[in-house]
Amino acid sequence: MSISVVVVGANGRMGRTICDVAQNSSEYVLVGGVDSPAHVAELSLRMVGKCPVSDNLPDLLTRVPEKSVIIDFTAPEVSLASARIAVERGMALVIGTTGLSSQQLEILQNLATKTPILWSSNMSIGINVMRKVLPELVKALGPDYDMEIMEIHHKHKKDSPSGTALTLAESLAKAKNWDLQNVRCSSRDGLIGERPQQQIGVQALRGGDVVGVHTVYFMGPGERIEVTHHAHSRENFARGALRAAAWLVDQKPGKLYGVQDMLG
Ligand code: NAD
Repeated sequence: MSISVVVVGANGRMGRTICDVAQNSSEYVLVGGVDSPAHVAELSLRMVGKCPVSDNLPDLLTRVPEKSVIIDFTAPEVSLASARIAVERGMALVIGTTGLSSQQLEILQNLATKTPILWSSNMSIGINVMRKVLPELVKALGPDYDMEIMEIHHKHKKDSPSGTALTLAESLAKAKNWDLQNVRCSSRDGLIGERPQQQIGVQALRGGDVVGVHTVYFMGPGERIEVTHHAHSRENFARGALRAAAWLVDQKPGKLYGVQDMLG
């Protein structure tokens, strides 16, 4: 049975990719696209004859099959609004938006007790497998290895460091029993002195059309390990989000799910 999906942010870089992948697959049916009032006209032109389009999610949801899943790749406030609407309708929601504050994540966790919601700052299967193996490296290498993360993204990206870099940093900190808030360093400038041992550097580069590169460095005495993930195109995120939608439709509300839950 194919999964019906409604894409919020359908005119954006990720939204367009998700719509394209869904339309070219027999597993998914694109049943609606939503974008902001400023961009909905452009979206309508692209979607002529393909699916209903609106700048109003509640209105669009009255025209889609009941068991549709909403996929939202927009901005934090917009995704929270989608989550409230999903709760009202009892619909499943996949969110890929990054840059949510801890307070916004708390609100999302609360809403996820009422309807199935999956949020991930990175929908790629590769990054999620990387997250699983990092704690093993941390434990096996021991205290002599300094950990740093470097990420590179296209020049249009609004948040920094990337949500993925922060999630990877969280995995490292957790494996060390450190609180990331106390050990993260994302700015080095001037006479800053020696690097403390209890630190995780998370640095960002921006430019061009880079889809996403994340490298975790383990720098020890006389050697260095680098674990790098390169996203070659947005398709891997889109495929991950669609796979998440297919998984989420059968889940019960209760907790804010992540891709790790889907992978088991
Ligand atoms: P984008 O700016 O190209 O697209 C965002 C879209 O949201 C735009 O079309 C915009 O008009 C639309 N939008 C804004 N306000 C809206 C509203 N009120 N209602 C409906 N639509 C609205 O950005 P992007 O590159 O597609 O990224 C979107 C988000 O997804 C960012 O937070 C980005 O960091 C994140 N992202 C996540 C992953 C992942 O795997 N989780 C991968 C890539 C990007």
